[in-house]
Order: sequence, then structure tokens, then C-alpha cells
Amino acid sequence: MAKKDSGFSTKCVHVGQEPEQLTGSVGVPIYATSTYAQDELGKPRLGYEYSRVSNPTRDRLEKNLAALEGGVDSKVFASGMAAVSAMCSLLKKGDHVVCSSNVYGGVPRLFNQVLVNYGLEFTYVDTSDLKATEKAIRRSTKYVYIETPTNPLMVLSDIEAISQIAHKKGTEVVVDNTFMSPYFQKPIALGADMVLHSTTKFLNGHSDGLGGVLVCTTKEQSEKLAFIQKSVGAIMSPFESWLILRGVKTLAVRMKQHDESGRVVADFLAKQKKIKKVFYPGLPDHPQHELAKQQMTGFGALITFETGSLNNAKKLLKRVKVCTLGESLGGVETLISHPATMTHAALGEKGRAAIGLTDGMVRISVGIEDVEDLITDLEQAISVL
Ligand SMILES: *Cc1c(COP(=O)(O)O)cnc(C)c1O
Repeated sequence: MAKKDSGFSTKCVHVGQEPEQLTGSVGVPIYATSTYAQDELGKPRLGYEYSRVSNPTRDRLEKNLAALEGGVDSKVFASGMAAVSAMCSLLKKGDHVVCSSNVYGGVPRLFNQVLVNYGLEFTYVDTSDLKATEKAIRRSTKYVYIETPTNPLMVLSDIEAISQIAHKKGTEVVVDNTFMSPYFQKPIALGADMVLHSTTKFLNGHSDGLGGVLVCTTKEQSEKLAFIQKSVGAIMSPFESWLILRGVKTLAVRMKQHDESGRVVADFLAKQKKIKKVFYPGLPDHPQHELAKQQMTGFGALITFETGSLNNAKKLLKRVKVCTLGESLGGVETLISHPATMTHAALGEKGRAAIGLTDGMVRISVGIEDVEDLITDLEQAISVL
């Protein structure tokens, strides 16, 4: 069967994951090499010359991730932020980016504290507001950069509508699809020009490695990004590439469980009198529940809830036993965090207030443990509030 036409789970397991030629090794080998012996001058074997430029383990991962998102190619980097940075390396002085106003905290840090010094310009806008998004696009706008749902407030942006608006104005749309993974959301099918992931999260899924990817829709993007990999050098290592190739084999079954348990935990939290508000696109009271049903095929594992105060959040986080207090998300283990002092500390008090992020908010990334154990754990932690 042509793997291109096969189902999502089959692609996860088989694209780029073909048995190795020499021995039939089913596991993709980790080509731990910096360089390659050349057959004669000017004749590198299969085109491999140096591992910053290309590496067979990395090539296989790039093929796999491109297939999962429905792109023509992908390029992987040392972290999600390295992928964001690579995307901006395609810009030049004076270029402008419209960015969702509440994205992963590291993104505005890179934009405002590093890249503005290179003459790039950024505007932050609530991209759930289509009119405001359209208004923010200038002649010099090269990307509309959106994350949907956002971290940690679970605000959605309409990928299809934004793509139409941006394309009319000659601007490309880049979607950070980390929260949903291609299992639940396919930005390219909705019109996006590039898709970004922190592979650190659901794609790898085991909290044991860092990485990032940009999935391309044109050969030109892919060639330009290959040049950035070679020139800037923030590439993903062969070992890290292998970790993700291994992790991604189970992406579909993991996402199914994350979503099933996510819904149960969100329903449980929504029923707790001591929890003031629950942010989860799967709840009917989520302001964009309809859009969520339209552009995603699941609601995922990320839930933010309001405990009422910093003190309450502290108490709860101290009590949890099955949930692990830590940054990050998307692993098989349930991770729980405090956005205001952890992932979104760099935004500052004003920046957090502007997006509605309070000191009482706690974010949970529901793992694949028995959901009854997660509920019991949260129940006992909430009981002390
Ligand atoms: C973690 C994360 C990033 C950054 O990725 P790193 O791998 O930590 O560099 C970007 N976007 C989202 C949505 C993330 O969750």
C-alpha cells in the first residue's frame, strides 16, 4: 500500500520508519556521526557530507512529520524555540509579523528581547478577532503567526478564515500546532502555509527530549530552511530525532487517551464549587466551543482552571501526588503548572493582565494514567482550598 494514501496511524508507524537496508533493523538506526566517508572526490555517498547539513536519522523524521501534517517536507531543529527562530531567519530588516496576543511565553521573549534588535517588527493582536487581525496586517507583514488553542487560556483562532484574510493580502500564515498535534488539527488542510511544533511535547510524548519542527507546503520554503539549518546550525541531533521517531509511532493512541481523559478531568473540574472557572474548548460554555468542533477533531489534554488566588494555587500544587508539578506538557505523565510564575513569568504583571492570565490559574496537561487516579488526586488537593 502506498504509505502516502494510508491512514494517520499507519503513517505514524511507517513513513520514514522503513526497516534499514543492511540488516532489516526495524528500529531506525541512530546515525551517530558528524561526517561521512566519500567514495571519491566530489562524490559523497547518497549526498551525505556533514551532519549539520544532513543526517539519515534526521531525514527520516523530517519525512515522517511532513506526512503527518500533509506538507511537502519538514525541517527539524534543536527545540521549538529554535524552529521559531529559524522561521524568523527567513525575514529581513523591516519585515513585520502579526502574532497572536497570547502565545507560548518564549515567543514574545524572542521577538521583543532579541529579534527587535535586528530590525524586525512585531504586532500582537487577539487573533480570535478576525477584524482586528485583518487590520494589523501591513504591506510589510510576512507572517501571521498564530497558536491555537493558546497557552494557557485556550483561546482559539479560526485557521481557515485567517488564512483567507492573510492570503488576500499576500501574507503567509504559520500555525503553532503543538497543543493539538496533527492527530486533532491539520492547519495545512485549512490553508496554513507552514506548521510549527515543539516536538518536545505531544509528538515525542515522553518528556525525554527537546525539539522543534517547521512543516513546509512548498519546495522553496523547504530549500530556504535547509539553508538555515546549514547556516545557523540549530539542528536536531540524531539521538533526539530517533527519540521522536520512536515516540511518534504511538501518537494516535496517546492522543485518543489524552483527549478521553482530558474531557473527564475538565468535567470534574467544572463541577467543583471551589474552582471558579475552567478553560477547556471541549466544555459547552467555552466561548469558541463551536469553532473547536469545526476545526479540531478532539479537544486535547490541556485544561486551565481558576483557583481564586496565588495562595490557593500554591496549596493545590503542594498537595498533588500523581500529577507532577513541572513546566512543559504533552507527556504520558500528567504535568501541572502555574503559568503566572513559571511559563509566563517573562510577560510581566501587565502583560499577563492584558491577556487575562491571573495568579490563581493552574494549568494541567492530562497524561495517560488511569483517569480515576487523576480525579482522586485532584479531589484531595482541591479539598484543602
Ligand atoms: C513548549 C512550546 C514551545 C517552545 O518549544 P521548546 O521545545 O520548549 O523550545 C512553543 N510553542 C508551544 C505551544 C509550546 O508549548
